[in-house]
Amino acid sequence: MKLLVPVKRVIDYNVKPRIKMDGSGVDLANVKMSMNPFDEIAVEEAIRLKEKGVATEIVVVSIGPAKAQETLRTALAMGADRAILVTTDAEVEPLAVAKLLKGIVAEENPGMVILGKQAIDDDANQTGQMLAALLGWAQGTFASKVEVAGETVNVTREVDGGLETVALKLPAIVTTDLRLNEPRYASLPNIMKAKSKPLAQKTPADYGVDVAPRLATLKVAEPAKRQAGIKVADVDALIDKLKDMGVVA
Ligand code: AMP
Repeated sequence: MKLLVPVKRVIDYNVKPRIKMDGSGVDLANVKMSMNPFDEIAVEEAIRLKEKGVATEIVVVSIGPAKAQETLRTALAMGADRAILVTTDAEVEPLAVAKLLKGIVAEENPGMVILGKQAIDDDANQTGQMLAALLGWAQGTFASKVEVAGETVNVTREVDGGLETVALKLPAIVTTDLRLNEPRYASLPNIMKAKSKPLAQKTPADYGVDVAPRLATLKVAEPAKRQAGIKVADVDALIDKLKDMGVVA
């Protein structure tokens, strides 16, 4: 079975985002960018399925600027086999990403598409669900365990208050949650090897997809600043303070 894994280049999760002066978005100038953390988990899961002999080939795909090549090379260094970059400098919304992925699925015929549950830049949590709808495929979102058994994949999902396991008929869509696995680091020899793995370059026009935005961002604002706290000497002083503030009687 072939696996398709979409990986997005996003602002690194360790970086504190700076809002542009005009409030139109996040300032990405000179900011460290990395693979979306949930997509690293998706790549890792695909590699584990290949190591188990369930998957035969892993194709990673990214939609974004030319620099997204670096993200794809990281996935290749982790263990993916080949990559597709759909180059665009536009900010591509989840619906357009899902339409492009649908075009790639038609060409590649994967048995499963494993996506992150959400991209940490737009926090949309939409692409996997939209792709499942466009393809008419089953979907298992927020996966914390993935087990392929013949023509079925059993996905354990993190739901409010517990775990739910669903059986999906293949081909299917899976989106990864944080506890699915711990992604590996690429070794230096594998980073070197990844440089010569195939990377195909495409454009949205190759798939006949119009990536023009359907949404307009009205305003992006910093979260409210937290008020400074105060120190009290002991528990009695704390209780007095809380009484003064009317928190306790
Ligand atoms: P979102 O719906 O934007 O929160 O993204 C969910 C998942 O869709 C991500 O974790 C990726 O697996 C995939 N995805 C979204 N945007 C892109 C993109 N531009 N290129 C590749 N994959 C993407």
